[in-house]
Amino acid sequence: MAALPQQPGILSFEEARHVVERHAAQAHARGTENVDLLAACGRVLAEALVADRDFPPFRRAMRDGYAVRSADLAQLPATLDVMGEVRAGAADVPAEVLSGQAVAIMTGAPSPAGADAVVMVEYTALGGNRVTITRGVSSGDNIVPVGSEAQMGQVLLEPGTSLGYCEIAAAASVGKSTIQVFRRPTVAILSTGDEVVEVSQKPGPSQIRNSNSYSLAVQVMQAGGEPHLLGIARDDQSSLRGLIAQGLESNLLLLTGGVSAGKYDLVEEVLSEFGAEFYFTGAQIQPGKPIVFGRARDKYFFGLPGNPVSTMVTFELFAKPMLQALAGVRPAPLIFLHGRLKAEIKTKTGLQRFLPGRLSGEFEQCQVELARWHGSGDVAATARANCYIVIPPDREQIAAGEWVAVMMR
Ligand code: AMP
Ligand code: MG
Repeated sequence: MAALPQQPGILSFEEARHVVERHAAQAHARGTENVDLLAACGRVLAEALVADRDFPPFRRAMRDGYAVRSADLAQLPATLDVMGEVRAGAADVPAEVLSGQAVAIMTGAPSPAGADAVVMVEYTALGGNRVTITRGVSSGDNIVPVGSEAQMGQVLLEPGTSLGYCEIAAAASVGKSTIQVFRRPTVAILSTGDEVVEVSQKPGPSQIRNSNSYSLAVQVMQAGGEPHLLGIARDDQSSLRGLIAQGLESNLLLLTGGVSAGKYDLVEEVLSEFGAEFYFTGAQIQPGKPIVFGRARDKYFFGLPGNPVSTMVTFELFAKPMLQALAGVRPAPLIFLHGRLKAEIKTKTGLQRFLPGRLSGEFEQCQVELARWHGSGDVAATARANCYIVIPPDREQIAAGEWVAVMMR
């Protein structure tokens, strides 16, 4: 592939992403708090989750059936004396199973001493106090050994783990009714533009409603931050100055609009007044090429392009990993999934594209096609899409049936 032409401050998609990741790796969360188990859903673990006992704590039967000595089943069918029954939760330890004996056992019950396997009830026939078994077992079958899942004191989950339903289950299983999580970072959101009005206002003929502050607020919440909406800055220095100063008091500042090359795109100029360092001022992507990343007054900021879909995409690609780092999440690379393309895509080379697409199909069949949209202002088409199709910068034509990278949303 031929090298892409470079402009100063404008990086390839991968370079720009890695710049953010390198800064994110140095970022820290903002203290901790204790929350109830269920309130911890969606939060980030700040303590190590430790096994408070062996898991399982006893030799747990995995099936309903009979606890036996596997050697007794060398000749089939085999008939054994049923010595008793052990239920899940049984308090008394059942007597040792001797050769020629079996104990009826239920899933989740402790397997008695002497028995080294459980035969599933489906392969047995009970007659009086004797059971006839028609299928053999190997030593260890259907019994989970003590401590095989985790030993007492073992770390089950490390700090920095995002807590979803599996992690909450792990916390519940070790008796955590409250969990220490990281505090949510505060994220200032500032929209800019003389044409932008608040949602509750009736827009004039050449005005548009502010949607970016709201899409961003949702993305911020989903990524573990606490959004602070600062409203809309006018396209003039003094309006921007006041609101940027306020925004830099949060843990992270997100601006939208005013970062392109227009005469009234003043965001970078005003950020410079705050002593900003700029790590990049563009990425070879579509939508979202004018994306800006930097730091001022010890706070990171992103200047996201104002076109609504550009704002959404550049948050996902660049702002999210920084926000997650400030939320205490352990860094992770961005991974795309793949889907089979339903209809040919024709485009131009030079930019990595993230185009609204629609995944369809069922079960193992997964197809993806471009959404019909009218560019990066088309919020409604993007809302009807359910993913972004990722097109590398060196492709101008992708045939139907090819596998393409997909970023879920
Ligand atoms: P800009 O990046 O400021 O040049 O804006 C690019 C496009 O995005 C323009 O059509 C703006 O009207 C639109 N835009 C900017 N800010 C917002 C916003 N907060 N909500 C919706 N659209 C916006
Ligand atoms: Mg603007």
